[in-house]
Amino acid sequence: MKSYVIGVDLGGTKIATAVMDREGKIKGKNIELTQILGGPEVVIGQMIRMTRLTLSKAKVGLSQIKGIGIGAAGPLNIMTGIIIAPPNLPGWHNVQLIRPFQKEFKTPVFLDNDANAAALGEWKFGAGRGCKNMVYLTISTGIGGGIIIGGKLYRGTNYNAGEIGHMTIDPEGPLCGCGNRGCLEAHSSGTAIARWAREALSKDRRRRTGIVNSQQSIVNSPQRTKKTMDYGLWTKKKRQKIKGSGSLILELAKGDLKKVSAELVFQAAKKGDRKALEVVRKSAEFLGIGVANVINVFNPQRVVLGGGVTKAGSLLFKPVREVAYKRAMPALAKVVEIVPAKLGDDVGIIGAATLVLTEDRR
Ligand SMILES: [Zn+2]
Repeated sequence: MKSYVIGVDLGGTKIATAVMDREGKIKGKNIELTQILGGPEVVIGQMIRMTRLTLSKAKVGLSQIKGIGIGAAGPLNIMTGIIIAPPNLPGWHNVQLIRPFQKEFKTPVFLDNDANAAALGEWKFGAGRGCKNMVYLTISTGIGGGIIIGGKLYRGTNYNAGEIGHMTIDPEGPLCGCGNRGCLEAHSSGTAIARWAREALSKDRRRRTGIVNSQQSIVNSPQRTKKTMDYGLWTKKKRQKIKGSGSLILELAKGDLKKVSAELVFQAAKKGDRKALEVVRKSAEFLGIGVANVINVFNPQRVVLGGGVTKAGSLLFKPVREVAYKRAMPALAKVVEIVPAKLGDDVGIIGAATLVLTEDRR
């Protein structure tokens, strides 16, 4: 009996392959760095080699395999199996991905957007289990999404539905990677959190430098009077106080603004750093607005939030829930849960493998 499925998760940094049973249990997996410099041919060869390796690791024969699911960054065409031009795979233009796998393994192969695959995985085996209507958001360097309606992945007219990260939150907001202004991704992704923090820190730095300069000019001024000397002392104390209030984020980044990342911001926030807490709160509130919009449009039973940024836990979830429940229409807010994803780092491979189990794209 064909009791197993294969999941292949193609990322710009890593490739992961897994053999999974029909209950979502992983029997064997491999992770390697993507040989990105080799171009499509080398990377596809690597994916195939890893798949074979994982099969032998799991002690599963090809005859027991129902099919192979591949998750990759969009845009892509799930019907033709072509990857169009993903931003994380430079140099990939209209690459045929499923045919080499079909040829090698002689089994059905399915390709889908990695966020859609992850949504399916969470719905079938993770935090969305038992839901009829669910929306999944993955918040990491960018923000992706997948929509389950009536127990099926909603793919849209040309299979591109679920770009929740590119809904406009503020038309005059920051520029987004997609070219628009004010997308959710530009407000609440890991990249955005790091950017908010850098902006706040450099503003702070400018302000502090300004005070130090004015003090120097007073102290060094030839017309020093008692009054200005007192003022000089006051500013010295004040300067020390301000210096002491320099953010822990900058300390963790070893004083280098370029090294500020979302991870460091969360680390600092967990230790109570005021600036970090402000940044987290701000980006979480925007995410809450996005989630409220999603709730108002889809009336889901559950909104599942996954991706690296959600590892921040309640620091993120508390303000997101607060804002989302306040802004969503009461009748819809009443029935929805906003929950963390459950599959963790395996969501990519489990999601890809789930594509085979939920094949419904005719
Ligand atoms: Zn955008």
